[in-house]
Amino acid sequence: TFADQVNNNPESGFDVALSRLGNFLGAERVSLTRIEAFDGQYSIVAMWPNAAEPEDGLNPWNYSEVLVGQTMFCTDGMTSGAVKGQGIDPEFGTQWIRIPIFQSGKVSFCLGVDWVKESNKRDLSFLLQILEPAARLIQSVLQSRQINGILHTMSRSDRLTGLANRSVVLDHLEKATARARRNSTIVALIHMNIDRFKTINDALGYLNGDYLLKAVAKRIVDMFRETDLVARVGNDDFVVLVEDIDSFESLQHSSHRIISEFEAPIFIGGQNVHVQLSQGVVVYKQELRDTAEDLLRNAEIAMKTAKSVGGNQVRYFAPDMNTSTKRRLSLEHDLHRALNREEFQVHYQPQLCLASGVVRGAESLIRWPHPELGMLPPSEFLWIAEETGMIVPLSEWILDQVCNATMHWHRTVSEDFQVAINVSPRWFDFPGFPDVVEKVIGRVDLPPSCLEFEITEDVVLSNTDTTGPLLAHLTDLGVKLTLDDFGTGYSSLSYLRNIPVNALKIDRSFVSGLETRQTDAAIILALITLCNELDMEIVAEGVETVEQLRFLQKHGCHLAQGYHVGKPQPREMLDTTIRSFLKTA
Ligand code: C2E
Ligand code: CA
Ligand code: CA
Repeated sequence: TFADQVNNNPESGFDVALSRLGNFLGAERVSLTRIEAFDGQYSIVAMWPNAAEPEDGLNPWNYSEVLVGQTMFCTDGMTSGAVKGQGIDPEFGTQWIRIPIFQSGKVSFCLGVDWVKESNKRDLSFLLQILEPAARLIQSVLQSRQINGILHTMSRSDRLTGLANRSVVLDHLEKATARARRNSTIVALIHMNIDRFKTINDALGYLNGDYLLKAVAKRIVDMFRETDLVARVGNDDFVVLVEDIDSFESLQHSSHRIISEFEAPIFIGGQNVHVQLSQGVVVYKQELRDTAEDLLRNAEIAMKTAKSVGGNQVRYFAPDMNTSTKRRLSLEHDLHRALNREEFQVHYQPQLCLASGVVRGAESLIRWPHPELGMLPPSEFLWIAEETGMIVPLSEWILDQVCNATMHWHRTVSEDFQVAINVSPRWFDFPGFPDVVEKVIGRVDLPPSCLEFEITEDVVLSNTDTTGPLLAHLTDLGVKLTLDDFGTGYSSLSYLRNIPVNALKIDRSFVSGLETRQTDAAIILALITLCNELDMEIVAEGVETVEQLRFLQKHGCHLAQGYHVGKPQPREMLDTTIRSFLKTA
């Protein structure tokens, strides 16, 4: 039996068991992964096929739902849970399944199955009927202490790159710092993370993402001495432990060499990919009594600091990085959890039609009731979501909420009720963006013209090659496009001819200066005229006083939004607000 097999020879027993499972299910990859901590540290402990060849190297980088004990899958082009929308061709069938395995109530392993070829038409529930019991069987085998000890040693190297993993680094660090204390030598740790890896991975597909990780690993290994330990400590996180450094200059030299070595592109999936790394360096100082864990964490903090100032650079750890980066790291961690538990709220700010006096639509604005920090405004956390790529699943969740709410107002208030949703640069660039929009609109059965996407000028103008077709695609879907924060960006009007926007949103700074600065009033009047000429709608944002409202109304501005009309509010409250305007209209 499976259990006997594993007990007799744990190293090959798992591989044999996984291979049987894989063959039976017509899969290309079955893996058993140890999940080491909540923050997604993992290492593959058993895998079929055995060798991590590039051709079949799969990179199960996202365990978000597994970490909270849920099965994840990608089938018919849709992914379950928070990462939905990352799916592929709906014709494909089931692409992968991840099932959590528990030990004393905690998720500690994951059984993963991947299908790479398009032949898998088996239906998901059939696959789960086999895999769920298989996962439970593995779970019971893993209860045995002896197996666990063996798995522990097996899990010391990363099966994808062949590099050492986090626990090896910690062991070596302890010994290295002891030696450094005895011999007064210098020990340093360099933590490297690939800039924008998620974007690259999304664009290349996760098979190629694996080649990339292997290629990056190889390039790093080639750069260092054999005595330096190179490890992979996270998905796209690499660490080098350098001992016996003769001077700080030579350490700096190493860091700069990493940057220059990565100037050469890596050829993957038929194209050249440019990879840049953010590096954080920590040098062991005897007097600080840092533990191995401290050093590893401080190197990561320094790396995050390098990333937050644009990436592709080196930062040396300094104690004052601790507070700001710690807060940021813990927010990032909380953000993951909030996404999985749907802790966010969407608020809606009413938009008043100045001709009729009724609420014609709303803008959706995200809020995060943080369990300890209270209600957080988007400025506190969206940049982290943007930087980490979490903005994509978060935006998709918002889209879902907004479509449902809009459908409600479409039915109960007006057929033309329009709700705006803000599009972040990263979501806009995400390859699956328009398809997800189409899918969600279809599912809710919402008329597309009730949905409005607010994009800023810099988003529109940043990437001209793909922007045109993408905007055209959205227009074809029938959704509306609005230029947000108008007047604060490039202030070149000529591009308005070339992009299919339906509305302009005058930035709040012009509206607030309306009564005091003549130029602001003049600009608003000019924009109203311009919009009328170009057959666009015009929305004034940040309307805070009745005088501003009257001015806008008098001069033919179409819509007003701002605290004077109503603050951003929960969905149910907007129902009341809408009714109160109906009475006075
Ligand atoms: P924005 O798109 O320009 O949104 C308008 C901001 O102005 C909102 O801030 C809103 O609460 C605030 N506001 C509305 N009326 C007034 C007023 O009369 N006076 C003043 N002083 N402020 C007013 P909020 O909600 O803090 O959002 C800030 C920014 O965060 C938004 O700027 C938008 O860029 C971003 N954001 C908010 N929600 C989302 C979202 O769901 N997705 C994305 N991608 N970005 C979002
Ligand atoms: Ca907006
Ligand atoms: Ca705005």
